[in-house]
Amino acid sequence: MSISHRERPTIHHRPTSRIPGGIIQRRMRTVVTGGAGFVGSHLVDALMARGDEVIVIDNFFTGRKENVAHHLDNPRFELIRHDVVQPILLEMNVVSFGNSSTFGIHDSSRHKTNVIGTLNMLGLAKRIKARFLITSTSEVYGDPLEHPQKESYWGHVNPIGVRSCYDEGKRTAETLTMDYSRTEGVEVRIARIFNTYGPRMCLDDGRVVSNFVSQTLRKQPMTIYGDGKQTRSFQYVSDLVDGLMALMEGKHIGPFNLGNPGEFTVLELAQVVKETIDPNATIEFKKNTADDPQKRKPDISKAKELLNWEPKIQLRDGLPLMMLDFKNRILKGGGDIDK
Ligand code: UDP
Ligand code: UDP
Repeated sequence: MSISHRERPTIHHRPTSRIPGGIIQRRMRTVVTGGAGFVGSHLVDALMARGDEVIVIDNFFTGRKENVAHHLDNPRFELIRHDVVQPILLEMNVVSFGNSSTFGIHDSSRHKTNVIGTLNMLGLAKRIKARFLITSTSEVYGDPLEHPQKESYWGHVNPIGVRSCYDEGKRTAETLTMDYSRTEGVEVRIARIFNTYGPRMCLDDGRVVSNFVSQTLRKQPMTIYGDGKQTRSFQYVSDLVDGLMALMEGKHIGPFNLGNPGEFTVLELAQVVKETIDPNATIEFKKNTADDPQKRKPDISKAKELLNWEPKIQLRDGLPLMMLDFKNRILKGGGDIDK
C-alpha cells in the first residue's frame, strides 16, 4: 500500500475541493488494492474520512463488497473489480498495494499477486509519479532466530516450505519496491504488518483469532494447532490503520514494523477469548502445519521514534469489538451461532 504528499508538485490533474472558509485544498486520489478486504477496507474508511478520492481495486477472492458498501454512493469513491496480476491504467497520486493476506492459503496464486501485482502497481506509480506504499508482512522474518524482530533482521525463511509462496512473495515484493525506489525514483513506503485482527476479518479464513472467535460463537471448540506454545502478537486493526496513515504521510521509506508488541502464546489467546467472549468455551488440540513460526513479536522502536506511532488497543479491549461484528455476520449467515 502507499500514499502521497500534498506538497508534491508533479501531479497536475489532482482534484481540488473548497473547504469552509473558501480555502482551496488539494485532494489526494488514492488507489487501494485489496481495498474491499479486511485491512484494506479499514484503510479506505480512514482515507475517505480525511477527504481523499479513493479507488478500490479488488478481485474479490477474499474481499467483500459489504466492507465498502457504505461508500458506494459517495462520488469520491470508485470500486473496480480487477486482478492486479493484469496491468491497469489509472491516474492517481498514491498507490496502496498489498492487502493480500495469507488467509491460511499459501499458494502460487498469492505468490503471483505479490510478485506480478507489485510489479504492475510499481509500474503504475512510476508512470504517473505517485507514491507507493507496500503492505508487507512479518512473515518476511520467517521462523525468526532473533526475538523480538527488528527491521534490520534479514529473516529465516525456508524457500521450499509450505509457507514459502507467501513469505518469499512478500520478500520479492519488498525487493522490487526498493529497486524501483533506487533505479526508477519511485517514492515508496514499506510496512511490515504483524498479526492483525478486528471487525470484517473473514469468518472462516483459518487465521487464529478469527477461528477462535467464530468457533466460540458457534459453540465449537477452539482448535489449537500443536501444543499452543507458539507465540504471536495481535494488533487491533484501527492501530494498524493509524500506523499506515502515519507512514504514508511521513518522509521515511521504512521498512517499519507495524504490530502490537503484546506477545501471547496461542493457548493464552484461547484463554483471553474464553474470558472476554464465553466462559464456557472449550479447546481441542490438532496437528500443526510444517514451518509454523514458533515466536513472533515486533520491535516497534523505529516506528515509535520516526512515525510517532504505537498501538493503543490491547487484546482484551479489541476482541469484544471484533466479536460484535462476527456475531452479527454469523447470525445473518444462517444462524448457526447456537448450534
Ligand atoms: N503497468 C501497469 N500500469 C501502468 C504502468 C505499468 O499496470 O500504468 C505495468 C506494466 O504492464 C508492466 C509493469 O507495470 O508489466 C512494470 O512497468 P514498467 O514500466 O516499470 O516496466 P516495463 O513495462 O518497462 O517492463
Ligand atoms: N493456529 C491455531 N489454531 C487455529 C489457527 C491457527 O492454533 O485455528 C495457530 C497457527 O498454527 C499459528 C498461530 O495460530 O501458530 C497463528 O496462525 P495464523 O494463521 O493466524 O497466523 P500466522 O501463522 O500467519 O502468523
